[in-house]
Amino acid sequence: MNETIITTSKIRRNILKTENSKVLIIDDSEDILFLVKNILSLESFLAVPVNSAIKALEIIDNTFDAIILDLMMPEMNGIEFLKIFRGKKEFSHIPVIVLTAKLNTEEEIAKIFEIGANDYVTKPFLKSEFTARIKVHVGLKKSTEDLYRTNKMLKRKYKDLQKAIKREETLNEKILERTVELKDANEKIEELNKALEYSATHDALTGILNRGAILAFLENDIRRSKRIKTSLSLLMIDIDFFKKINDTYGHLVGDSILKQLCNLIRDSIREIDLFGRYGGEEFIIILPDTNVEQAKILTSRLLTRIREHNFLTNKINLKITISIGLTEYILDESIDLIIERADMALYEAKQSGRDCMKIH
Ligand code: GH3
Ligand code: MG
Ligand code: MG
Repeated sequence: MNETIITTSKIRRNILKTENSKVLIIDDSEDILFLVKNILSLESFLAVPVNSAIKALEIIDNTFDAIILDLMMPEMNGIEFLKIFRGKKEFSHIPVIVLTAKLNTEEEIAKIFEIGANDYVTKPFLKSEFTARIKVHVGLKKSTEDLYRTNKMLKRKYKDLQKAIKREETLNEKILERTVELKDANEKIEELNKALEYSATHDALTGILNRGAILAFLENDIRRSKRIKTSLSLLMIDIDFFKKINDTYGHLVGDSILKQLCNLIRDSIREIDLFGRYGGEEFIIILPDTNVEQAKILTSRLLTRIREHNFLTNKINLKITISIGLTEYILDESIDLIIERADMALYEAKQSGRDCMKIH
C-alpha cells in the first residue's frame, strides 16, 4: 500500500531527482537560449533549445518535463503558443514557466496564469532561483504523474476486486442452488425408497403384508418367542366358497370383498398382531404373547363379526363366512411345522362344515 501513497517527502524526492529531466527552451534570442541551456545543463537537465514557438509546437511530445517560454517572439508570441499548447489535453501536465524581459503589470501576470502558465521569471534572473523554480515544477509534474499512475492502478485493482466479488457471489448462488437441488433429490430418493420398500412388503390389492413379509415376521416372532419364552399363536384363514362369489358376481366384486374383509380383520386385531395375505383368499394372523386359549377368544369374535357383516357391492349386500385353523407355537419347532399344523386345522374346519375354527 505504501507505494500508492504520495507523501510530501516523495514530492521532495522527485524535486531532487531532476537529472536528465527534459526541458524545452523557447526563445528567439540565441543568447538567452545559450545561457539557459548552459545553466540547466550544469544542473544535469537535458535542455533542448528552440528559437521559435512554431518549431516548438512541431517537436513537442510527452517526453518533455517542462517548458521555458519567452513571451516576446516574432511570428508566434508566447501567449499565442500557450493558448494552442494548453488546448492539447495530452500535454496538460507539462509545466510552462514564462520568461519575461520586462516588468509586467498585475493584469498581465494574471492573464499569463489564466491561459495556463505555471510560473514566471523576469529577466535578468538569479541563477539559483531560476533553477530552483524549474526543479519544483519538474518535481511536481513527476509527482502528478506518480499520482496518475497510482490512481490508474487503484482503479484497476478496484475493478479486479469487483469482478472477484461478483465471481464469488455467482459461485455462492450456484452452490446454494445445487444444495437445494441436492436436498430435493435426496428427499425424492428417500420417498422412492419408502415406496419401494412398501411395495416390496405389501399386497397391492389389500394393502396388508404380502406373503414374503408375513413369513419373515413369523420367522422373527418365532425367534423372539424362543428367546424370551413367550407364547405365540397363529391363525390360518380361508374364505368359504369364495369361488362362487367370483363366479356369481364377477372378479371385481370378489376383489372388493377381499379388500373389505381385510379392513374388517385389521380393525379386529391388536396393534402388535401381524396380518398378511398368504395366498389368493388365504390369510395369516400372528398373535405374539398369546396362548391358544386367549387366541380362541379373538378367533370366535372374528368369525361372528364376519358372519354378521354386510359386504357392499354396487348392487346388493353380500354375506360371507370364513374358516380358521388355529395353533400355538411349540418351543424349538420350525416355521414349516407351525404352518403345516395351522393348515391342517384349517382343513379340518372346512371339513366340519366351514364358518368355524379348529385347533391343532
Ligand atoms: P372353500 O370354501 O373350499 O375355500 O371354497 P373356495 O371356493 O373358497 O375355494 P377355492 O380354492 O376353490 O377357490 C378360491 C378362489 O379364490 C379361486 C380364486 O379365483 C379366488 N381368488 C383368489 N385370489 C383372488 C383375488 O385376488 N381376487 C378374486 N376376485 N378372487 C381370487
Ligand atoms: Mg376358500
Ligand atoms: Mg383357498
